[in-house]
Amino acid sequence: MFRLKFKLSHTDPLIKILPEVRGRYLQNISLARHTWFGVGGRAEIMYLPVDAEDLAHFLRNTPRNLPLCLIGGGSNLLVRDGGVPGVVIKLESPFFRQISIGENTITCGAGFHNPDLKKHLLANNRGGLEFLCSIPGTVGGSIKTNAGCFGREISDVIVSAEIINREGKIQSIDAKDLGLSYRGSLFPDDWIILAVTFKTEPSSAEKISCLLEEHKAYRRAHQPVNQKTAGSTFKNPEGLKAWELIKKCGCDQFTVGGAKVSEKHCNFLINTGTASAEDIETLGEMIIREVQRQTSVTLEWEIKRLGIKREQ
Ligand SMILES: Cc1cc2nc3c(=O)[nH]c(=O)nc-3n(C[C@H](O)[C@H](O)[C@H](O)COP(=O)(O)OP(=O)(O)OC[C@H]3O[C@@H](n4cnc5c(N)ncnc54)[C@H](O)[C@@H]3O)c2cc1C
Repeated sequence: MFRLKFKLSHTDPLIKILPEVRGRYLQNISLARHTWFGVGGRAEIMYLPVDAEDLAHFLRNTPRNLPLCLIGGGSNLLVRDGGVPGVVIKLESPFFRQISIGENTITCGAGFHNPDLKKHLLANNRGGLEFLCSIPGTVGGSIKTNAGCFGREISDVIVSAEIINREGKIQSIDAKDLGLSYRGSLFPDDWIILAVTFKTEPSSAEKISCLLEEHKAYRRAHQPVNQKTAGSTFKNPEGLKAWELIKKCGCDQFTVGGAKVSEKHCNFLINTGTASAEDIETLGEMIIREVQRQTSVTLEWEIKRLGIKREQ
């Protein structure tokens, strides 16, 4: 994400200074339908590039201080009610959803949906990426967050990533240079992931199906499914579990407006249908304060919060 100072005169609509592209610009678009929480304000402009060259042309021909931000599947995002100034980029065209199967690798475009990996693993008898199939969202978002579950994470399986920088230069980056850490990464905020190569292991359709079923059953039993949530709200502090701290401090009963703590897993916050982003963020902040007060542990948001609060 690019968070730079950018002042645009109110008489000058942003669209006027953007270069002509082959992709699409959508103006004043609600971001609620682009996130799993289903809340949040509008993007001044959403840009849907048609391919990497189109994106490179856009990056080379926009002011360096224009605020840009990337969204993938929106499954780890809380977009604030005041919306997101500048341009929100979403890599959802077919170009960014390609997949190719190598000898011991699989390469996916950044906009490829993780659950869609299933059929390719099964058809090609490839193992090692089953955990990723159960994580909602896209490959690009999963790299940025070093997503993981069931004892594996992206850093265990990634070989390299193709990125584009703010100058529109495309390059291949070795996994070790992405600085992947627990639910995060250290690569520059102005790098956009275009595609990712994962290593795979030989397996059998039977073994793969068995693992996929196990993961699905575990999630059904222990996590809220088919609800408006963004997954784990807080990172696990070193040697501790965020959900245990939340429960121990009685925060699992907290609600704010239409936002509540999931009854199934208290590190998940839920939009019951009427929540605003403000309700969800306030609920999260209340939990942080109470856990801090009772245990001196400061929980850190795992969910990425974007945009600005609505003016009161
Ligand atoms: C029900 C549920 C269960 C979940 N379970 C898990 C779990 O088990 N483990 C886990 O780790 N997570 C989990 N999550 C969280 C989420 O699914 C993951 O973090 C996922 O990888 C996010 O991908 P996304 O495409 O939705 O990214 P988004 O939420 O859209 O974005 C996440 C971050 O990635 C950045 N980003 C997106 N695309 C790109 C790109 N192409 N280049 C650079 N930056 C980019 C965004 O700017 C943002 O900072 C869960 C979420 C839900 C709703």
